Amino acid sequence: MTTTIPHWIDGAPFVGDDATASPVYNPATGDVVAELALATPADVDRVVASAAAAFTTWSQVPLGRRSAILFRFRELLVEHTDELAAVVTREHGKVISDAKGEIARGLEVVEFACGIPQLLKGEFSEQAATGIDVYSFRQPVGVVAGITPFNFPVMIPLWMSPVAIATGNTFILKPPDRDPSAAMLIAELWKEAGLPDGVFSVVHGTPDVVGRLLTHPDVAAVSFVGSTPTAKHIYKTAIEHGKRCQALGAAKNHGIVLADADLENAANSLVAAAFGAAGERCMALPVALVQEEVADQLIALVADRARAVRVLPGDHPDSDMGPIISAQSRARITSLIDSAEAEGAKILVDGRDTVVPGSEGGWFLGPTVIDGVHPDMTINRQEVFGPVLEVIRISGLEEGIALINANPYGNGTALFTSSGEAARTFKRAVQVGMVGINVPIPVPVAWHSFGGWKDSLIGESHMYGPEGVRFFTRAKVVTERWLPQPDAVSFHFSGDAQK
Ligand code: NAD
Repeated sequence: MTTTIPHWIDGAPFVGDDATASPVYNPATGDVVAELALATPADVDRVVASAAAAFTTWSQVPLGRRSAILFRFRELLVEHTDELAAVVTREHGKVISDAKGEIARGLEVVEFACGIPQLLKGEFSEQAATGIDVYSFRQPVGVVAGITPFNFPVMIPLWMSPVAIATGNTFILKPPDRDPSAAMLIAELWKEAGLPDGVFSVVHGTPDVVGRLLTHPDVAAVSFVGSTPTAKHIYKTAIEHGKRCQALGAAKNHGIVLADADLENAANSLVAAAFGAAGERCMALPVALVQEEVADQLIALVADRARAVRVLPGDHPDSDMGPIISAQSRARITSLIDSAEAEGAKILVDGRDTVVPGSEGGWFLGPTVIDGVHPDMTINRQEVFGPVLEVIRISGLEEGIALINANPYGNGTALFTSSGEAARTFKRAVQVGMVGINVPIPVPVAWHSFGGWKDSLIGESHMYGPEGVRFFTRAKVVTERWLPQPDAVSFHFSGDAQK
């Protein structure tokens, strides 16, 4: 008997009477591990009503009490890391150490949100005009919906929910349907931490469920991470329905390796950043732009390391890389490798025929290194989101920056060099939101904000950090005067600070 993964409404599991379900798989075996309950429109209305009711009280809870719950939630996440990582690996496929890594990065945002009393301190201008003080502060927006992708089933809900909740909102998570169980464990931990019922909820479902959240009059804001076409659709629909929206999209990140770089370090970084999590990271580095004079040497180092990657189920102690999320994704990635070969690129390391003994039903694809990629090739014109490293040979920094800036995406990038001057030129000229200098995956720490440029971010608000606090709150400014005696009638506009 497979178990049914329920929604989480009013602080408890919930499955409606007329629920339908979809299968959830273990990508390392191809087996169904659970059934996911899909919400009906009535279920969505129920979860929004619960979150709206909870907002009236949660938004009034003092900052210190909110902070205490966040501290407790942080401790529980640490205590339950092994359990949470196992859940992630079972449904996503990534290796256990990587699952723990994403929990650690999510934890950072919880720690950031623990400081909410400091973060919500307003601004005050004493005697802005005679007898007048002006002050501004920020208040929560209301019910917030978070729609998240499959590739970080813990970290991305933790990019959003701790900040949304700490700032006084209630939060409804619509997790990915391919690996939804981590969201349920997170819900249980919030409850155990003392969060009142209805402040954090989970609702599963098809795009129709998301559509109902996007158009529901009682949802005030939408936080989204996923592919670019979906991000554009979510943003447009949310804005049309009067909601604020932050929508992070896809990526095609490039790393430049200049001739003066430490090539061993660059090779290690490229292999880790291209093949870690089977390349299913929005901050992966799937394209290496390598200066021609060191290209053969670097590619040899990269190819050796790629061949040494141990492709095994994510819960195997020796695994460096687990399976792809689905059979369809594996077929899509394989056909892109085929297209590169047909268009004249050279497949130096070929992962297409990878079979893992004992896991023949799993959706494995080995590391693949493709040399001689041209920017116009089919594979280079889209996000691959798999364990594939494309190598494009370049004359130098200028050509590398031009190629990056011509790309429609602008999530992350990296430069490998020993020249401070090259690094300075690069970080100033490149049209990308997150830049690494000798750092392959420059995901910002939680007290900075995370976000790309161009088609990697629709709208303008980055996630977590100071921008997260701003996104989940709205400003109020009070101009205040206590009259010693009544004023005479004045027809002057009152904006004169010299008064
Ligand atoms: P996706 O866009 O298919 O799905 C994301 C979420 O949106 C899921 O919850 C899904 O159920 C929902 N959804 C899908 N189609 C929808 C529709 N038509 N209407 C409403 N909701 C819909 O993305 P994915 O495959 O889960 O995740 C991989 C993508 O996410 C990649 O493109 C990756 O680059 C991107 N990503 C970006 C970042 C970033 O920070 N920019 C981070 C992680 C992942």
